[in-house]
Amino acid sequence: MRKTLNALVGLTLVSAALMTAPPLARATATDAPPCPRDLSPQAQGMPDTERIFSWVEDVTRLGKRLTGTEGGRKAAAYVKCQFEALGLQDVHYETATSWLWQADRSSLSVNGRTINSFPVSYSFVTPDKPSVFSTGPGGLQAVVVDVGDGSGLRITPERVKGKVVVFDLKFQMSAAAFLPFVDFIHDPKLTLFDATLFTANPYITNLSKVVEKLQEAGAIGFVGVLSDYYDSNRYHNEYYRRTQMKLPGVWVTKTDGAALRAIMKATGGAPRANLVLEGSRTEVEGRAVVGVLPGLTQETILMTSHHDSVSSGAVEDASGVGSLLVQLQHAASKPLAERQKTLLFATMDTHFTGYQVHQAFTDKYVIKKETPYRLVAGVTLEHVAKQGVIKDGKLVMREQPELMGIMNNFSRQVRRELHASMVHHDLRRSVTLKAGLLCNTVGLPTDASFWCRAGLPSASLIAAPVYLYDEDDTLDKVAKDQLLPVAKVFADLVDTLDRTPADQIGQ
Ligand SMILES: [Zn+2]
Repeated sequence: MRKTLNALVGLTLVSAALMTAPPLARATATDAPPCPRDLSPQAQGMPDTERIFSWVEDVTRLGKRLTGTEGGRKAAAYVKCQFEALGLQDVHYETATSWLWQADRSSLSVNGRTINSFPVSYSFVTPDKPSVFSTGPGGLQAVVVDVGDGSGLRITPERVKGKVVVFDLKFQMSAAAFLPFVDFIHDPKLTLFDATLFTANPYITNLSKVVEKLQEAGAIGFVGVLSDYYDSNRYHNEYYRRTQMKLPGVWVTKTDGAALRAIMKATGGAPRANLVLEGSRTEVEGRAVVGVLPGLTQETILMTSHHDSVSSGAVEDASGVGSLLVQLQHAASKPLAERQKTLLFATMDTHFTGYQVHQAFTDKYVIKKETPYRLVAGVTLEHVAKQGVIKDGKLVMREQPELMGIMNNFSRQVRRELHASMVHHDLRRSVTLKAGLLCNTVGLPTDASFWCRAGLPSASLIAAPVYLYDEDDTLDKVAKDQLLPVAKVFADLVDTLDRTPADQIGQ
């Protein structure tokens, strides 16, 4: 358990929590006209699988939805329109300043031989400042050295100073690390306990640690070999805020890494690299789309997902947005008399760029309580995914859902009802995890981290398929047959939260 906690300390969300929150501003106007209320029969009650999937398709089709880009703004406008059509009130944007990191050009060659590569997101930045970065005319020309996985004493100034450094990116934590927190499993076909449970996934890695050491030792650039990944270099790492990477870096696949190392070995003298990286990091507006479904009281359940993405992002997180809209349609179809508590819906961005909106939202709504809503619980929905495994260096899809975890710090009574609902609706390959300890210490490895840490009893649906950061996260990866079971389990959970007295929701 301690190992898991230690590893999680490296996560973006945790480190970001240590920084002061930027202010959250209510946007006075939006760039999208309001959408009319949808009164058609299909917009009533619990939507069917096809309708849920159509939302996931719509968001996926918007393509890359990076915070501060046209795609990001289109995604926010889409959610806003759905919020209005499905009957939310006071639909508006709330904003906080975030970053947009973009590479315009990058390449790598060693001894004149081009190696396929892809820029390391958020590398080459000027700490805490906007910047335009460039390796200059002709790029960096330097001796290239190999430090393996960068552990031990391999990274020393004598070895790496003034050089481009090749290292192996290692994935460091598997889902099994969370087993000590599991308090319920629904897995009737007994498929969960196999080798994939113990295979490290691409989220907790040695990147920060190695780059920190390289920066200290005076390296001038790096090449990360995706040694635990499948044969793709489209690995869009998250923004590791704790380590602002000042060096330019590129990713290469395991195979290309082997070719690169063969070229290095075959060189008589010191092999030389030519590394090119040009781009910019600018301050941009992060955006939450917020809307209210009033209940009989101001006691409020926060319902969230995120609409930003680094690729077409079908699982990450069109599936979360679709799953959130389900809850909205379902709840809004009930008469007011059946809704004790108010529901506050929000999709946020900045998931990939530092969580500034999540943080500012928590500050305003949970910590400083600057709104009329008395938040008593949070429900966050992310990732309804098919399982992907790495076989012989390739991504292979399995026709079953990825392990789904519902992390929560709810009371025993609320959890008991949740477990019964997971069985009743047959939410396959799902577990619940007691998140109290995580919320009280390092936070959650999900979008719910900030409000959970700030004391809001929370549940967070999450799955961690291997392709989540990759351009391979396409519509076929969504576990379509799980959309409805997820919808029903969470509709039940919201019902439970609605009728449970506020002081009996948390652990
Ligand atoms: Zn997500």
